[in-house]
Amino acid sequence: MNANLYALFASRFPQDRSACCIETHDGLFYTWDDIDRASARIANLLAGLNLPSDSRIAVQVEKSPEALILYLATIRAGYVYLPLNTAYRVSEMEYFIGDAEPAVVVCSPANFGWVSKIAFQSGTRHVFTLGERRDGSLLARAAHQSDSFEPVEKQPDDLAVILYTSGTTGRSKGAMLTHGNLASNAKVLQEYWRWQDGDVLLHALPLFHIHGLLVASHGALLNGSKMIFLPKFDAGQVMQYLPRSTIFMGVPTYYVRLLADPAFGKEVCANMRLFVSGSAPLLLDTFNEFIRRTGHTILERYGMSETVMLVSNPYDGPRVGGTVGLPLPGVSVRVTKDGRECATGDIGNIEVRGPNVFKGYWRMPEKTAEEFTADGYFKTGDVGRFDANGYLSIVGRSKDLIISGGYNVYPKEIESLLDDVDGVAESAVIGLPHPDFGEAVVAAVVVRLGAVLTEAALIAHAKASIANYKVPKRIFFVSELPRNTMGKVQKNLLREQFKDTFQALAAI
Ligand code: AMP
Repeated sequence: MNANLYALFASRFPQDRSACCIETHDGLFYTWDDIDRASARIANLLAGLNLPSDSRIAVQVEKSPEALILYLATIRAGYVYLPLNTAYRVSEMEYFIGDAEPAVVVCSPANFGWVSKIAFQSGTRHVFTLGERRDGSLLARAAHQSDSFEPVEKQPDDLAVILYTSGTTGRSKGAMLTHGNLASNAKVLQEYWRWQDGDVLLHALPLFHIHGLLVASHGALLNGSKMIFLPKFDAGQVMQYLPRSTIFMGVPTYYVRLLADPAFGKEVCANMRLFVSGSAPLLLDTFNEFIRRTGHTILERYGMSETVMLVSNPYDGPRVGGTVGLPLPGVSVRVTKDGRECATGDIGNIEVRGPNVFKGYWRMPEKTAEEFTADGYFKTGDVGRFDANGYLSIVGRSKDLIISGGYNVYPKEIESLLDDVDGVAESAVIGLPHPDFGEAVVAAVVVRLGAVLTEAALIAHAKASIANYKVPKRIFFVSELPRNTMGKVQKNLLREQFKDTFQALAAI
């Protein structure tokens, strides 16, 4: 059987192909037939370029239905899709294009000048443009192509997508995901989140990241469900479409912003079936406030570019705030320390094995080997613990672990403590170089509007609750935490900003 992911999606399209697949904010409707025919045209265009079968198609374009169609066309034609964040500038694009050596680059018309220069210098022979409003050379060229295309024969182990990790430390690595990885994960999630007839997905996430592309869109495509496409997250627009939607997926920041609008509540959510959160930790405050305001319990799940989704709170069972839930069916997740599995409640490294786990890092065989255990588990780099009911909590990234005076300090524990203080909106705890302790614990704290807090009071509060070595040595008040587009706190930027804090002590 052909394992091409497009063939799987096409087999699940609704019988009535004149039904709406994508509705846009500017009032356009794309039927399932439109999606099938438009992706066939682009697949024919790509196939006509006579590229080697493992060719990468690198894409840096604004979100649009055509961007999703280009993704579908790429996998349908058997090539490897490589989405790139629209925020990347020259040096980043030089790195990704140089590393991935794509056969084709597709960029926004406005960026053609500089992107094509980088691409041609790296040996890419074909550069097309695709704008937000169906403009650019890609669609112009594809318009002359046939609108039927048989999905290229693929094995489950063949590459479908390369996702470059966000690389908040070190070089960004290309995670190679196969047709089999993506198909298995999409099927598991369809079942686990109880996708059903009549579902409508409100799609506000970007398409260059796993969350919007491989979780949200895949869910709707596999279920033959309509999507309402918003160009980006905008609380007002989301509230406008929620009454006509049943599923919404977002990063925690989206939920915080929705709650900040006094008009957001039960009424706008009356038609909704499911809210999903992921990509970064959802604060317990947000989780609870959402229940209070809407009556809905956000379902938090955990995943990463290398493994797609691996753990999720249940649809039917209890959704526990502050946890990411239970391992998905068929996925094996364990928490280990020094090579041994931890007892329930103990903190350790999260490792995963299953059909969802990627093939390896692009052109980094040694790095890939390092990240797998001898018995085939992938080391996620996240640190966490299982509770007695089998729910996983994430404590942080292992690289964010602070070792102060020889003691391990898990930032999440201190962040939770600070976040509980009245007047604290949120916090981020980092380790900074310290002449005595090796690393010293430091917190960056965002204060709620109108609240007055002092460094001394917060330190005193921490001292009363936790061991001294965990108490922040300094607390810096900041107006907001630096976050990337997926809402992840960029602790590397905080470490850089405050790196000299204890430098003076070294000179004494
Ligand atoms: P990415 O590959 O960009 O999706 O980033 C994956 C990383 O995001 C994971 O390794 C986690 O560190 C983090 N992450 C994803 N979902 C969650 C979640 N629900 N809670 C906490 N961290 C998360």
